[in-house]
Amino acid sequence: MRRIGLIVFIISVIWSCNVQKTIVDRPIVFDEERIVLTKEYLSQRYNLEQETAEIVPKIVVLHWTAIPTLKKSFEAFEKSTLPNWRPDIESVSGLNVSSHFLVDQDGTIYRLMPETTMARHVIGLNHCAIGVENVGGTKETPLTRKQLKANIFLVEHLATKYNIEYVIGHQEYTQFEGHPLWLEVDDGYRTEKTDPGMDFMKKVRKATKRFNFKPVPSK
Ligand SMILES: [Zn+2]
Repeated sequence: MRRIGLIVFIISVIWSCNVQKTIVDRPIVFDEERIVLTKEYLSQRYNLEQETAEIVPKIVVLHWTAIPTLKKSFEAFEKSTLPNWRPDIESVSGLNVSSHFLVDQDGTIYRLMPETTMARHVIGLNHCAIGVENVGGTKETPLTRKQLKANIFLVEHLATKYNIEYVIGHQEYTQFEGHPLWLEVDDGYRTEKTDPGMDFMKKVRKATKRFNFKPVPSK
């Protein structure tokens, strides 16, 4: 009997190692300035006049930082304003880029900010998109298997928490032009993206098939 109990215990430990992942809170600066700039972004880019910087998540966007370390990746998002932003001369938004989650190469998941506050990580869709950044992505530091597993866990976790309709790679975002969720007012404001690549997206989609996310719109 004791032996069976031990076996059950071992199995449950292995099971929990595989399934349950912890999310570590490591907040970036979200001061009054960042809140003001976020509301300004919602107003100027999307014509959304809101009392708060809240979003209703409908899309999860996966990224890589192309920065090799957790420390440097975190630092890129930490401050409220873009580096070198000069409020007196710059007319574009000075709101710094960020994402809700940052996944280290070892698969550790860090939550940088509340999931329902707007982060600047994807043109056109920030008003409804949760961002997941992965440390690395370059030839020297490609995304790891542990990051893939962590991304799958996060997508499943978020899809059980919110009404997530789409899971996309950043490189797919312009497919939403003309879609009701696309709100960017400036047709000339686009950046070309390759992260996190189709191979990564295929694997995430295969593993999360049971959620029946909608296919990425075709233009
Ligand atoms: Zn990206």
